[in-house]
Amino acid sequence: MMKSTNNAVRCSLQLLQLSTPIGPVKVTGCDQGIHEIKLTPTDKAPCGKLRSVTIDGEERKQDLSGPLKECLGWLESFFKDASSIASLPLPPLHMTGIKSGSFMDKVLHSMDDIVPVGKTITYKNLAIEMENPRAARAVGLAMARNPLPIVIPCHRVTSSDGTLNKYISGVCVKRWLLEHEGAI
Ligand SMILES: [Zn+2]
Repeated sequence: MMKSTNNAVRCSLQLLQLSTPIGPVKVTGCDQGIHEIKLTPTDKAPCGKLRSVTIDGEERKQDLSGPLKECLGWLESFFKDASSIASLPLPPLHMTGIKSGSFMDKVLHSMDDIVPVGKTITYKNLAIEMENPRAARAVGLAMARNPLPIVIPCHRVTSSDGTLNKYISGVCVKRWLLEHEGAI
């Protein structure tokens, strides 16, 4: 999905492997920002009372680049108490696979403002918020290709008929995330 652009070649990427309440999560990033968050697809809803994030790989917290360290802190806060992220800045983003200034770039960067924690929005209304009411399909595509799920909250976008529609790692995870945020 992520194209290896010239921009990306200059990035020295670090991989952070985590155990989270929604399963294994892999975060990659450089010293400019986080590139990608990969969730593990599942058809089982997260269970138990686990609210913590732990590092699985060899990486030690003190050796992480600034953005990865910030992302780890952000995810720890999010899983402990979702409402805490409302007052937390996003970790720096470096989405090298997405054309700067494109509709997708704009919609991904606007998500956090348009649909804060505890809220949901439909694809159609998100398109309207983007001042492009006919772009519901393009919004859907941007959500499906979101390289930074959770941090860029594509899980807060639902269908007009009230169903949750799809999610990158499975709809049961989307439901869990929205319940965790108190949105449903
Ligand atoms: Zn980078």
